[in-house]
Order: sequence, then C-alpha cells, then structure tokens
Amino acid sequence: MNPDRPIPNITRGVEITTDLDLSCDVCIVGSGPGGSIAAAKLAAAGAKVVVLEEGGYFVRKDFDLQEARAIPSLYQEYGNRATEDLSITILQGRGIGGGTLVNWTTSYRTPDVTLSRWRSDFGLSAFTPENLNPHWDEIERRLSIHEVTPDEINENNRVLWDGARKLGYGVELLKRNVNRCAHTGFCGLGCPTNAKQAMYLTYLPDAAEKGARIYANCRVLRLLADAGGKRIESAEAEVLEGMGDGAHERSERSDRTDRSERSDRATGRRVVVKAKAFVLSGGAINTPALLLRSALPDPHGRVGKRTWLHPVVATIARFAKRIDPFYGAPQSVASHHFAERPGKLGYFLETPPLQPMLASIALAGSGPEHRRRMEQLPRLNAVIALLRDGFLDQEEGGTIALRGDRGRRLAVRYPLTELHFEAMREAMKTMARIQFAAGALEVSTLHQPALALRTPRDIDLIDRRPMAPNRVGVFTAHQMGGCGASSEPTKGVVNGDLRHHHLENLFVFDGSVFPTSLGVNPQESVLGVSSWATDRLIAAGWKG
Ligand SMILES: Cc1cc2nc3c(=O)[nH]c(=O)nc-3n(C[C@H](O)[C@H](O)[C@H](O)COP(=O)(O)OP(=O)(O)OC[C@H]3O[C@@H](n4cnc5c(N)ncnc54)[C@H](O)[C@@H]3O)c2cc1C
Ligand code: SF4
Repeated sequence: MNPDRPIPNITRGVEITTDLDLSCDVCIVGSGPGGSIAAAKLAAAGAKVVVLEEGGYFVRKDFDLQEARAIPSLYQEYGNRATEDLSITILQGRGIGGGTLVNWTTSYRTPDVTLSRWRSDFGLSAFTPENLNPHWDEIERRLSIHEVTPDEINENNRVLWDGARKLGYGVELLKRNVNRCAHTGFCGLGCPTNAKQAMYLTYLPDAAEKGARIYANCRVLRLLADAGGKRIESAEAEVLEGMGDGAHERSERSDRTDRSERSDRATGRRVVVKAKAFVLSGGAINTPALLLRSALPDPHGRVGKRTWLHPVVATIARFAKRIDPFYGAPQSVASHHFAERPGKLGYFLETPPLQPMLASIALAGSGPEHRRRMEQLPRLNAVIALLRDGFLDQEEGGTIALRGDRGRRLAVRYPLTELHFEAMREAMKTMARIQFAAGALEVSTLHQPALALRTPRDIDLIDRRPMAPNRVGVFTAHQMGGCGASSEPTKGVVNGDLRHHHLENLFVFDGSVFPTSLGVNPQESVLGVSSWATDRLIAAGWKG
C-alpha cells in the first residue's frame, strides 16, 4: 500500500455555501490528464491557477471495489453514457483525475505514423517525436511508467499472448503507470492501494502545493466572451452536491449522511471565474459540448465533428481451467499486428478485466442463458479489438450535439457503417482464432443473439451473421476528437498551439484535439501533447 497524498485545500461542492467570484491567471476546466499536467506546470511557473471539475473528489478509502457504487459515482452519466441510438456504450471517467480515476493504466506514446499523418494532413508541423519525446520522458519518470514483466501476465491476458504467438501474430508487453501494483484487477473502480499513478495522486497535488486552487463538483455551464467576441472573460459553473465522494470521511465521523443520500443535484450556488486565459480539458465529448453551449464563434461548423471512439468489439472464450478474468493487472499485452489494413479500418487487440457487473452488461442474452454464462465467469476470457478510426478519407466520425435542458444533455452520434462492420467481422474472426489457439473450448460473439463457435471450423459463421447497429455489442473507453487541431480554421477548432482559431485566450488541452484517433490507448498522448502545449502557453506569459 502506498501512502495517501491528499490534494491540499481542495474545495468540494458541499463546502461552497455562497456564490463565489474568483479571479486568476489561468482557469482550467476539467481535471483529467490534459488539465492536471497543465495545472501543475502552470502553477510551478508562477501562474495563479483555478481548476474546475464537475465530478467529485475520491480517494483510496472511497474505493470499496463495489461496481454498483463505483460506476455511478466515477463514470459520466452514472455509467449510462451511450450514443444516441444506443448502439455504442461509452465508458468515460468523471471526477478529480478524470479518466485516470478509472482507467486500466496502459501507457503508450503516440505512434510516429499517427503524428506523421497529423503533420501532413492537418498542418501540425510541431507534432514531431523530437518535440514530444522530452515530455514523454519526463511524464514516464513522474508517473512510474514501465513495462510489465512476463510474470505479471494474468490468465486472461495470457490467452492473447499465447494464442497470438502460436499463430505468428506480433504481440507485445505493455507499459503501465503504476508503482508497487498489487494486481487486484480493480483499476476500473478506483485503485484501493494508491499504486495507480492517477492524477489525484500526482500532478494535481503537485499543482495545489504550488498554489493552484482546485474545486470539485463544479460543472462549467458556459464561457462568456467580451463585447468584441475575441476573448473569453469568464467561466460560469454550477455547484453540484456530489455523489459518493467523501463518504469515508463522513462515516468516520459517524455522519448519517451516507453516499446514497446524495444524487449530484445542483445546489443552486454559482462559481464565476475571471481569468487571463482559459484552458478546456473536459475531454472529448464534454469539451465540444461546452463550446456549443457557450455559442462561441464556429464559422466552419467544426465543433463536435470528427469525434473518434476506437469502437470496440469483443469475443468471449470459455476454458476448462480457471481464468479469473477479474484479478491481476487488467492489461499487460497487446497486438498491433492488424493495425494497418490499407483501404480498410485497422484494429488492435487487448484484453479487458471482467468484473461481474461489467461482464453481465457485456455478455449477450437474457434469462437462464445469461445466468448460465455468468456462472461460467471464472472460466471466461475476453479479447477486445479496438478499431483505429479516423485515418480513411471516407470517414466522417461522430458528432456531438446538444439536446434540451439548456444544453446540459448532449447527444453523441456515431454512424456505424459497412466500413466498421467489415473490420469488426475480421477482428472477431482473428480473436476467435487466437482464443482457440490458446485452448478455448468455445468462443462466443456479442451478437444479439450470441453466436457460439464450438471449433475453429465454425469461425466463418461470423461472416453470415447480419451486422447492424444494436445487433452486436460495441463499446468505447477511448474518446477523441471533436475539437480537432489543424493549422487551417476550415479543418479544425484549434490551431497548432492548441489555441482556439477565433478566440485568442482560449485553449484546448485534452483528447478532443486529436484530428484522428491514435491507434493506441490515449492517456500518455493526452499528457504529452498537453505538456508540450502548456510550455507554449507559459512562454507566451499565460496571457493568451
Ligand atoms: C474504463 C476505462 C479504461 C481506460 N483505460 C485506459 C488505459 O488503460 N490507458 C489509456 O491510455 N487510456 C485509458 N482510458 C482512456 C483515458 O483514461 C482517457 O483517454 C483520458 O483520461 C482522457 O483524458 P482527457 O484529459 O482528455 O479527459 P478526461 O480524462 O475525460 O477528463 C476530463 C474531466 O473533465 C471533467 N469535465 C468535463 N466537462 C466539464 C465541465 N463542463 N465542467 C467541469 N468539469 C468538466 C470530467 O468530469 C472529467 O473528469 C480508459 C478509459 C476508461 C473509461
Ligand atoms: S491492479 Fe494495481 S493499479 Fe490496478 S487497482 Fe489493483 S493495485 Fe491498483
């Protein structure tokens, strides 16, 4: 167990009892990797920083490993976020630390091939490995990012490792941002040992120790521009009562108000922040939604467009031996063997942890059939394929729009087309081959109803199953784009410095700036790009 590291002077929504008017040099909206590293660097450089985060402040003692409590508290829309047609389930973190509260710790630098595409197609000439590597070197030191050892591969990941190697597919060990990981397997519900080097243990305390003021449960509703419409003057947030956070402190004080009695309602209080510069780090989906709610200039209609999801399909294998897919480092191996498929969507392969609630949502079927499959959970393995979207000319990606409740509710639209279904079919066949090669007795797809493959000869049955939205389970844990960076205002929301094309003191430092998806897990890319852009903002005197 690593020691706790509280964020000094953090303010929770329930502690805000009057409306607040704050002023600072830089106001940061959102405390995921993009916002946290920016806050730490700016505060260390002497800027007065305010961070506003809509989610709660959770720490080790809040993480009791219960999915029914953790998922509503730590995920966007209580864990129910999905595309408007419900065809893609969207897992996205919410709270102090953003996605790092719940992510599975896999850490990759942005591949050179992705950076090269950004330079050639979007004019992002500074996005070179030479410019970004020093940032990643420093981040890897700070967050203890290192490669797993072979003995850390749990049985669930070993299926991918063994099966891919038997078939001659390239497969590699992953890097993770952990320090003395106890391999509980519960990264997705908050780390109970402080091993995960999430933002609430690293860059956010760093920032607060240098004077940054951090506010949890403060949802920024809109940004207000000056009369000339060229600069942002203030950010206006509503205060939420929070849900679940601080529960351990109240129970230690024998306070009867337990986590179930709060439901994240607005308290009626407002926080208004005036600043010289504003950095949006609300993540893909929420940052474009904030720009839309604020009705800021968008003459080329770029806000919310080209949203990328790395859409995920899975196959589930049953083994004679125990797999216990809920224990051990959640991810330790990956295969990028099929990442490049000219003219088609590429995909890469990883393994997800299968805690019971997540598994019960993912597994197809209902009633006695579903129960039977859940009883088999200790002997099940899952492999996932993540589609590398955004690299083909014909792809438009997803769109973010507002719907009702004064823009508080949003709609994510992501049309699944034959381009996706072709890649999903191929990926499912590859994963089934891998699982059988590793000794699976049976492999099932997440079609509705599920297709059960009893021998490798059945694999081609996948081609005969109709594919359409909601006919197969599709997920995403990697949201990107929607405020894409481009040197040309007609192609992007922000420029090569991640500064808004039409508002001189507005910046976006999060996964929404990626003009395509990444082809790897995003957190280290978000950190590296934000770190690089923060240095530019510091060099500009953080005045925007
Ligand atoms: C289950 C799961 C597993 C994952 N596993 C991995 C992994 O192993 N490796 C990896 O690299 N990536 C992983 N990811 C993805 C990764 O965590 C995200 O890509 C990354 O955190 C994105 O960083 P960000 O700064 O863009 O935004 P986020 O991390 O999403 O942070 C944005 C924050 O801003 C807040 N916010 C949004 N709007 C507002 C507003 N209007 N006002 C105030 N606050 C606001 C949000 O509540 C959130 O806390 C995983 C994600 C999930 C959900
Ligand atoms: S697997 Fe390691 S990093 Fe993840 S929750 Fe358990 S102890 Fe923390």
